[in-house]
Amino acid sequence: AKSLGRNNYQIFEGSAEQSQQQNLALKSGLRHAEHKGELRVFYQPQVDAVTEDIVGMEALVRWEHPELGFIGPGFFIPLAEETGLIVSIGEWVLRTACRHAQEWERRFGLRLRLGVNLSAVQLMQPNLLEIVASALDESGLEASLLEMEVTESISIKAAPNLVENLQGLHRLGCRIAIDDFGTGAASLDYLRKLPADRIKIDQSFVRNIGVDPDDEAIVRATIEMAHRLKRGVVAEGVELEQHMEFLRANQCDELQGFLFCRPLPQPAFEKLLLERQHL
Ligand code: C2E
Ligand code: CA
Ligand code: CA
Ligand code: CA
Repeated sequence: AKSLGRNNYQIFEGSAEQSQQQNLALKSGLRHAEHKGELRVFYQPQVDAVTEDIVGMEALVRWEHPELGFIGPGFFIPLAEETGLIVSIGEWVLRTACRHAQEWERRFGLRLRLGVNLSAVQLMQPNLLEIVASALDESGLEASLLEMEVTESISIKAAPNLVENLQGLHRLGCRIAIDDFGTGAASLDYLRKLPADRIKIDQSFVRNIGVDPDDEAIVRATIEMAHRLKRGVVAEGVELEQHMEFLRANQCDELQGFLFCRPLPQPAFEKLLLERQHL
């Protein structure tokens, strides 16, 4: 694969044993991160499995802490969910990413799909559709270019507005992707009940390509099942040529992973687009 540039950003990952006190300090810091302008949206390209052209990108939030540097979402999203801050952070990510995507379309003429993660808390919000509609309206981004990523770990039964909200997003013209497919307790139930356009094969399966024949069989069967259901498939966590070759040989539609590019801040992602699309 052609390398899509490199990333010099150090991502701070907190350990599970962060003391209560540190967590408290971080929670209060997080409360102000948005209005202090400490949040950033990074973008990771998704490439066509055959041509390796960039066809979309996933928006991934980071927190640039004044003392600790870049903090990864794996660490602060759970804190944001606990405190309810995820609602306003998620809205900020959505509005920012829609604006960037629309800008790339306007300036470069690129119609790239934008993936945005939605947390369970957001999916249960009664005003989710109004927020998404206003983010589209305000940015001018076409609804069909926006793909909401919904993780499988959310229980359909336990989330009151989930199905209605996803159907509403579809009516707005947005696409829905099931994230981390295969890791939840109810993958098939999800496929059956939710209006999903695509599934994202979880990186834990992709990582085992070339290592575990059972996981390879699951990846193959997942791609075939998705295609029979007329859904698209993206594989996440593609790190090796061997992963790419296997996924390509088994007709996976799109690929995302460090083999192509790490998540990049907006200016670096723009530079990548300019280089790669020969603009
Ligand atoms: P995710 O949605 O499954 O996102 C993919 C994660 O895998 C990202 O981690 C990405 O940097 C990482 N990744 C991409 N390619 C590779 C690869 O080849 N190898 C490996 N080992 N990892 C790869 P990141 O950015 O740290 O995000 C972690 C999680 O935080 C995301 O997992 C998502 O669940 C959550 N997240 C990120 N941004 C947001 C957001 O704006 N809102 C919400 N609700 N959650 C977010
Ligand atoms: Ca995701
Ligand atoms: Ca995922
Ligand atoms: Ca994940």
